[in-house]
Amino acid sequence: MHHCSLDRARNPLTVVRNLGILAHVDAGKTTVTERILYLTGATHKRGEVHDGTTVTDFDSQERDRGITIFAAAVSCVWDGHRINLIDTPGHVDFSDEVTRSLRVLDGAVAVFDAVAGVEPQSEAVWRQADRHGVPRIAFVNKLDRAGADLDSAVASLRDRLGTVPLVVQLPIGREAGFTGVVDLVRMRALVWGAEGGSYEEGPVPEVLRKDAVGRRRLLEEAVAELHPAALEEFCARSSVSDGTLAAALRELTLSGEGVVVLCGSAYRNRGIEPLLEAVVAYLPSPVDVPPVRGESGDGAQERAADPRAPFAALVFKVTSTATGRLTCLRVYSGTVRKGDVVLDMGVRRTERVGRILRVQADRHAETDLAVAGDIVAVVGLKSARAGTTLCAPSAPLVLEPPTAADPVVSVA
Ligand code: GDP
Repeated sequence: MHHCSLDRARNPLTVVRNLGILAHVDAGKTTVTERILYLTGATHKRGEVHDGTTVTDFDSQERDRGITIFAAAVSCVWDGHRINLIDTPGHVDFSDEVTRSLRVLDGAVAVFDAVAGVEPQSEAVWRQADRHGVPRIAFVNKLDRAGADLDSAVASLRDRLGTVPLVVQLPIGREAGFTGVVDLVRMRALVWGAEGGSYEEGPVPEVLRKDAVGRRRLLEEAVAELHPAALEEFCARSSVSDGTLAAALRELTLSGEGVVVLCGSAYRNRGIEPLLEAVVAYLPSPVDVPPVRGESGDGAQERAADPRAPFAALVFKVTSTATGRLTCLRVYSGTVRKGDVVLDMGVRRTERVGRILRVQADRHAETDLAVAGDIVAVVGLKSARAGTTLCAPSAPLVLEPPTAADPVVSVA
C-alpha cells in the first residue's frame, strides 16, 4: 500500500518516522523512551539527517523546560533517519489528547510486559490505534524478569488482540540469564554485554540452531499465508529468502494484516537497537500513509504529504514555557517558514509564525522551515489551540473535521 506523491527514492521524507510508544502503565514506556533517547544521543554522529538546523544545548534551567516540551514530542536521529517520538498519554481513555496524539503519528511501537502479556488497558490502546489505522510493531519488554515468557506473551497477542503475530526474534537465555536475541530474518545472534552497552553480532549458537531454524520456518509459513510473493517463493523453493521476508514484513505491517514481534529488556538495555532498526525497516514514513482528509469551503479534500502543496498542519498540543507559548504541530502538506503568515481555522484569524523548533532530548534545534511530514514546535502563535488546523490563508482547510462517531477534536 503506497501513497507516494513524489519519487520515493529522492523524497527526503522517506527518512522520517513519526512514532508513538503505546503501553499499559508500567509496561516500560518511559524506560524504552529513555533508552532510545540515550542510544540516539550517543550515536548522534552516526547518521545526521541534513535539515539545515542550528543546535543549541539546553542550559540547566532550560533542560527543566525541555522536559515539559518532551511531554509532547522529541526528535532524534538513528542511522540516517529522523525519529520524532510523540508522547501518547499512558492512561487510556477516549480523551481528546489520546486521540490527537494517535492522529499525528504514522506508526507505533506497542510495549508489553513479558510476564503480564496483554493487559486490559493495552487492549484498549490497541483497539484505539486500530480505529485510527496506525501501523504497529510489538515489543515484548522485561524479558529479564522472573516468569517472563515470550511464547505466552505472543499467545496473548494472538488471543486477546486477534492479531497475527510475526515473531522475528528468538530470545537467548531466560529471565536473569537473558542476554540477547537471534534475529530470525538475518539468522544472526545479537548478544549484549553484562552492562548492556552495544551488542556483538555473530552466528547463531549451536545449541539454539535447531530452535532458530524451526522458528524461522514458522515465520516463513505465517508470512507466506498472508503475502502472495512470499507464498510464490515458498511453493517454488519451500523457503522464503531474507529479502522477500523483510519486504513482506513491511507490507504486512503497513496493511495491519500481521504484527512484527520483537523482544528485549529496556531496563537492561537489551533489544533497543534492533527495535529501532525495525522502526526504520517496517513502520511507514509520512509518504507511506494515506493522504490526510480535510474540508474546505468547496467540500472534502485530500492533501498528500507534498512539500509543494498548500500548507496545512494540525496543532496537537500547546504548552506554556518560560520561552513563551509553544505550539506543537504536525505538518501534513506544504511548507511553513519562520515569519510566514498562517490562517488559524479555529478563530479564523491570521497569525505570524515565530521561531520553529525541533526538540531533542537535551537541546533544541532551531530550523528555518518545516515541511509536510514534520513535527515541530512553533513559538509566537497566540490563539492556536490543540485540535485546530493552521493553513495557508489562500487555501483554507479544516483537517479531519469531527464526526458523530468521533466527537473528540474540537474545531471551534
Ligand atoms: P511506564 O509506566 O510504561 O512508563 O513504565 P516504566 O518505564 O516507568 O517502567 C515501570 C517499571 O518497570 C519501572 O520500575 C522500571 O524500572 C521497570 N522496568 C522497565 N523496563 C524493564 C525491564 O526491561 N525489565 C525489568 N525487570 N523492569 C523493567
